[in-house]
Amino acid sequence: MNIFTTKHSLGQFLQEIRDTNKTIGFVPTMGALHEGHLSLIEQARQTNDEVVCSIFVNPSQFNDPKDLEKYPRTIEADIKMLEKGNCDILFNPPVSEIYDANEKWHLNIGEAEHLLEGKFRPGHYQGVTQVVYKLFNIVKPDKAFFGQKDYQQFMIISHMVKQLNMPVKLVMCPILREADGLAMSSRNIHLTADDRQHALILSKTLNWVKANFSRDNLAGLKQEADRMISSEPGVESDYFEIADADTLHPATGHTKSIIALVAAKVGKTRLIDNVFLSPES
Ligand code: AMP
Repeated sequence: MNIFTTKHSLGQFLQEIRDTNKTIGFVPTMGALHEGHLSLIEQARQTNDEVVCSIFVNPSQFNDPKDLEKYPRTIEADIKMLEKGNCDILFNPPVSEIYDANEKWHLNIGEAEHLLEGKFRPGHYQGVTQVVYKLFNIVKPDKAFFGQKDYQQFMIISHMVKQLNMPVKLVMCPILREADGLAMSSRNIHLTADDRQHALILSKTLNWVKANFSRDNLAGLKQEADRMISSEPGVESDYFEIADADTLHPATGHTKSIIALVAAKVGKTRLIDNVFLSPES
């Protein structure tokens, strides 16, 4: 695997690849890699000649400096995983390579910016679009692969790509889970043994809502989901929403594509998860 830490050296290398008409698949990450990340690399591998992964813990998307400081950084293990996962190129820049001092960024990304995750993490999606815009400009991928795990992020990046006419095709990949249902996440490292058990209530609740899904009883489903999560010790819900997958506003019985999304603190660790209740649009 070729490893680059500067955009100039990566850019030169990728230009030579593009000159031979090879396609580039891109998987942006913040590292602390797990099987979920590797599944994105695998999917990129299937439809592209070269696969680029970036590992960059992006400061501008953290509204809580403590959360940024605490974010797991495991670069040695990550490199081993990527080599095993057949990744061709790793881009692992320092912050100074991506940002100048005092950079300002604001993009109109629609009201979804302020809903659900946006409400609990003000400015988060401005930071996400800022770094993804920069990474897309550096890598210039044909296709970029993101997880459904961060569904709202995928929606907002899609909005940006459309609005700015960026020449990249986005692919949303399924959520990889542990055998007991917990969605894989870099943050799971922080869960204590007790937290790890309590965290199962999130996927259990989503599964229950999916199994009992009825368009006539969305309020009842949400009420029962809220009850299930709030009765789990050590778990504090930020939101559980049954939403229109196109707008993230609460769904009605007539909404075409419906998704249930949850965010909760489990012990000191904030986790998110989701499941489609009716087909993706
Ligand atoms: P992160 O490193 O957490 O920023 O995630 C990088 C990419 O991996 C994002 O597109 C995530 O949605 C995706 N991802 C994270 N967890 C999973 C998972 N359990 N299954 C599939 N994709 C995931």
